[in-house]
Amino acid sequence: MISKELNAQSMCIHAGESINESRAVVQPIYQTSTFRFDSTSHGAALFAGRQEGYIYTRMGNPTIRAMEEAVATLEKGKRALGCGSGMAAVNTVFSAELSAGDHVVCSQVVYGPTMTLLNTVYKRFGVTADFVDTSDTDQVIRALKPTTRLVYIESPGNPTIELSDIQKIAHAAHNAGAVLAVDNTFLSPWFQNPLALGADIVIHSLTKFINGHADVIGGIVVVKDDETYKRYRSVLNQTGGVIDPFNAFLVHRGIKTLGLRMERHAQNGMAVARFLEAHPKIDWVRYPGLKSHPQYELGQRQHSGPGGVMAFELKGGFSAGETLLNSVEMCALAVSLGGVESLIQHPASMTHASLGKEQRLAARVTDGLIRLSVGIESCDDIIADLTQALDRIP
Ligand code: PLP
Repeated sequence: MISKELNAQSMCIHAGESINESRAVVQPIYQTSTFRFDSTSHGAALFAGRQEGYIYTRMGNPTIRAMEEAVATLEKGKRALGCGSGMAAVNTVFSAELSAGDHVVCSQVVYGPTMTLLNTVYKRFGVTADFVDTSDTDQVIRALKPTTRLVYIESPGNPTIELSDIQKIAHAAHNAGAVLAVDNTFLSPWFQNPLALGADIVIHSLTKFINGHADVIGGIVVVKDDETYKRYRSVLNQTGGVIDPFNAFLVHRGIKTLGLRMERHAQNGMAVARFLEAHPKIDWVRYPGLKSHPQYELGQRQHSGPGGVMAFELKGGFSAGETLLNSVEMCALAVSLGGVESLIQHPASMTHASLGKEQRLAARVTDGLIRLSVGIESCDDIIADLTQALDRIP
């Protein structure tokens, strides 16, 4: 057991590992669905919560618990709940917080399925939602109602990289009797800790930077106190969207290099963003590390690094976007982000193609918008690949 508070880099290596009773240096994979009881009274005590221990993997498992502990520590939270995907984490928050008649204020620039979940399933259950530009705190304040139970934001937002003021929005939500949940996927706990800024709940798609190797689908919810944890755990036990032990093991392994990877993502991100900003075929670049980002000052206050995801607008619009994406060689033409490899996508022709143009433009997904998740390859190779692909645009 380590007694002193560790530096964040050491925490990435050691957080969660002290929960291991086997003496193995790394938490083993408990690939089991269920756990033996010593006796019926032992089983009864575990079920009644009078004794700590494992019952059934949907309700808890040592490998999952170790990974949850690591993320909770890095996020400066109390406990965490490992989920089967980022969307399972979002759904855990919605199903734990919302009842018929409740109202949600949500970022307009938000991961698409999060918006769809509120507009379909939760709408059917009698929950209403308003989607506002949360980069403008006044719009959040104006949207709050007596029935608002949850304010839900992403900062930076997907895919336009707009920032929302977590501290001010937490204050406004609390004044209205609501809780604030923040999707912190884009920056990871390495660069941003929303709970320390006043948020009540943090969610992540573990699929992205936290695992970091594009080989796992997972999600997590981090909470600040035991009471909320128990309430959320009960919902997750019933809805069943838990992560499995093997994926939890891979995520925990990924966490050990989170700091190293995030620093390199940011270093490459700065170089690529500056290259793109100076390129004649590009209209603008949105990256929190650039002084040209409209909320650069806010970013300096609320996060400690810019991450690896950026958006840029091609002057040639839709067809330039298609040409660029069909011309990249090393950067992978794929959705998702936060892996060691650079990933590039054109929302207008890919993820947002099914939206009508009007709805797409309302979400500020313009024709020539490109989202780039800068990996940790050699920066020279990333820039060389983008250069040759940009050269193909007439
Ligand atoms: N939140 C953000 C910001 C995302 O980008 C994603 C996925 O791209 C999700 C949540 C959902 O995560 P998952 O794909 O792991 O369900």
